[in-house]
Amino acid sequence: MKFNQSNNNFINKIIIQDIKKKNISIRTRFPPDPNGYLHIGHAKSICLNFGIAKQYNGKCNLRFDDTNPNNNHTKYIQAIKKDIIWLGFNWYKKIRYTSMYFKEIYQYAIELIKKNLAYVEKLKKYEIRKYRGTLKTTGINSPYRNQSIEENLLLFENMKLGNIREGDACLRAKISMKSPLIIMRDPVLYRIKFIKHHYTQNTWCIYPTYDFAHCISDALEKITHSLCTLEFQDNRKLYNWILKNISIDNHPQQYEYSRLNIEYSILSKRKIQSLINNKIIDTWDDPRILTISGLRRKGYTAESIKNFCKNIGITKQNNLIELSTLESCIKKELNHTAHRTMAILDPIKIILSNIDSQYVETIKVLNHPKNHLLGSRRIIFTKEIYIERSDFQENPSKKYNRLSLGKTVKLKYSYTITAQSIQKDINNHITTIFCKCHKNNPNNDNKYGIIHWISKKNAIKSKFILYNPIFIIKNPEIEKDFLKYINQNSKITKIGFIDLTIPKNTQIHTYQFERIGYFHLDSKLSNKKYLVFNQIVPLKTIWKK
Ligand code: ATP
Ligand code: MG
Repeated sequence: MKFNQSNNNFINKIIIQDIKKKNISIRTRFPPDPNGYLHIGHAKSICLNFGIAKQYNGKCNLRFDDTNPNNNHTKYIQAIKKDIIWLGFNWYKKIRYTSMYFKEIYQYAIELIKKNLAYVEKLKKYEIRKYRGTLKTTGINSPYRNQSIEENLLLFENMKLGNIREGDACLRAKISMKSPLIIMRDPVLYRIKFIKHHYTQNTWCIYPTYDFAHCISDALEKITHSLCTLEFQDNRKLYNWILKNISIDNHPQQYEYSRLNIEYSILSKRKIQSLINNKIIDTWDDPRILTISGLRRKGYTAESIKNFCKNIGITKQNNLIELSTLESCIKKELNHTAHRTMAILDPIKIILSNIDSQYVETIKVLNHPKNHLLGSRRIIFTKEIYIERSDFQENPSKKYNRLSLGKTVKLKYSYTITAQSIQKDINNHITTIFCKCHKNNPNNDNKYGIIHWISKKNAIKSKFILYNPIFIIKNPEIEKDFLKYINQNSKITKIGFIDLTIPKNTQIHTYQFERIGYFHLDSKLSNKKYLVFNQIVPLKTIWKK
């Protein structure tokens, strides 16, 4: 699918105007910090940035924002590239790293010092914070603010040479300690970190801050529209201040849009990392979290994620998107594309007393009720079959229309059966239901409830993992102690059966298990003993407590 952002969003409108007015070629960028895997919030940003480039014949750069040497891990870089490609997007030419521009960024810092627009601060971090003031009070000038340009140049050189200890000095812009925007109260531009950087190794022991590096990298790459989330609204002032005060040709424009938040989930790499650290999940691709890799493992397709991003649109209003909005995108797609089959998640055995134990009847069934192009498969009907435990009730209510003693149901694609007796184990647990099969009146079955089943002869043992939201509250993102709200039932494992035709069809990994939901083969967990299936989404969303 060619990804097209809706033309109605405010960013598209700006771009259309800019193309008309300035006759420019659009260039955007996606700038992930490689400190974790991408999540669905990043997908929104990817669809926006790469989507705009595609739509307006422009270019979109992939730039790893690796200013912070603490965070950057090569494994995250690989995972991020994989996810972008999987989503169906491609960056323009080579991959960029902010660290590629460290030399230029350093030169611009020198330029600001020479213009008396930056100074080396020797206050400690906590003192800087104290002097900065609050939203209600203005800041106080640092005693080091009026050092001479020469002294600042010398101190900055010493910072660079590693002659000053970490935390003992930093470079600050000289803007105004009285600014109503705290970000403009002499923000830090460079800090000392004696940490080996994944790309520049030990070349540097001073690193630019995000705010200083980001606008310069955008300008060096000739980005026309620098799109970021609303938290950076105040930073725009600083972005423009820096670019105005250094000798650089391009001055990209920053625009902000609302961050994606989804009910019952967190979308922050740092918080996802803390779920891993606290052993609530094992990996970044756990199907319970909304990372791209988690969603892929759960069975979401790239198209469904892109459709979701298109549906939610781009606005300036922060809101919490319902989880069902995401689920309905994959449901809608799989309703058309997924092969149907029968699986039993919680089995109970049925013995059909009037069927011979050698009897095998082959039934041809369609893989999709409406899409004949998906072909057909053959299932078998035999004396012993499995049905879902929940399709039998010993003491049913009047309305119950599935199996109970003396009652008749229709087996999907096959005959009607009537339950005659049950067998229990010592724990009073039903082990077998004995039924009579009505082979001779196949047309008289419309009035009965229909249930799914699998012949014991074709039943292959499998594991099914059902997922509930990982948080019990709608908006864990705003909770400081978000770990207090973990759903202990976010993962429910069942052992049951699939029809033999599934393991035989190694091409298809996603199925609709009739009457249950959509499931996806988990190749990471499946082994010789079992196939393991993740539930993508149930047919009816009823989260189990
Ligand atoms: P996180 O808190 O998950 O680390 P981040 O904003 O720090 O998020 P980056 O790697 O810096 O993550 O993000 C790369 C790009 O993706 C940025 O332009 C950022 O604005 C955007 N982005 C990140 N999270 C979201 C989100 N939830 N919704 C929309 N865009 C997002
Ligand atoms: Mg971040």
